[in-house]
Amino acid sequence: MSAIDNLPPLREVIRSHDLQARKSMGQNFLLDLNLTAKIARQAGDMTACDVLEIGPGPGGLTRGLLAEGARHVLAIEKDRRCLPALAEIEAAYPGRLTVIEGDALDIDPLTSLTPPIRVAANLPYNVGTELLVRWLTPPDWPPFWQSLTLMFQREVAERIVAEPGGKAYGRLAILAQWRSDARIVMSLPPEAFTPPPKVSSAVVHLAALPAPRYPADAAILSRVVAAAFNQRRKMLRAALKSVAPDIEDRLRVAGLTPTDRAEQVPLEGFCALARAIAQP
Ligand code: SAM
Repeated sequence: MSAIDNLPPLREVIRSHDLQARKSMGQNFLLDLNLTAKIARQAGDMTACDVLEIGPGPGGLTRGLLAEGARHVLAIEKDRRCLPALAEIEAAYPGRLTVIEGDALDIDPLTSLTPPIRVAANLPYNVGTELLVRWLTPPDWPPFWQSLTLMFQREVAERIVAEPGGKAYGRLAILAQWRSDARIVMSLPPEAFTPPPKVSSAVVHLAALPAPRYPADAAILSRVVAAAFNQRRKMLRAALKSVAPDIEDRLRVAGLTPTDRAEQVPLEGFCALARAIAQP
């Protein structure tokens, strides 16, 4: 019996189901159930929410989410070796856990979820960033999710919450902060995971705003930000030449200085520029 439920401790689950972590699947497991319950709490009140969990693995975070009262958890796991261990959790929480085997990048989980929906995950770095960008750029806003509570390498977490003026500030910060409140809510050392990764990690919580923080066309904003940060050492007037031939005028209309660099421009400035570019 573990600290948070009547299921066996995770080390025992891993031993009995022979779930040695595989590097190819980006597996670094969290085995401390007090810690996974603490991460689950960062998602906020889940008692009236469905929770989408990506990459449950042996189920540490899944058990945290259920013990903390999630109404229903839909978990998508690519490694079929984990399914028997997850089935034991399903049995311990009747009707509250559904597991789908597959690649989260290919599966549309929405038909199996009832709003309001929160998302929680401890994912391999590359999959996590790709999913985050997808979740932040749906065709319509507000998105299907109310909040995202995601584990990242510390360096990526810092890029999500970055303010202007530093190296971490870029496309990810603009994408995240334009339409959500993003905060680092926990820091974890490598030793929190089995096996320990090379770098520290952090949990980021993103709460969807009902509407974007500043008005702008999403496609134009995305084009401007990509061009500006692709050549972040260049002045805006040079980096953005391909976006509009009269970019210097448009920068001035937006209240920006053409000789500034992307790193110096706050989110509000990029949105003003997207609006200036949208004008005929
Ligand atoms: N959530 C567990 C924990 O915290 O201990 C496992 C975390 S481990 C870092 C990442 C998990 O994501 C693994 O179980 C791995 O098999 C799974 N995974 C990796 N790529 C995936 C993908 N594309 N779709 C779904 N699951 C994936």
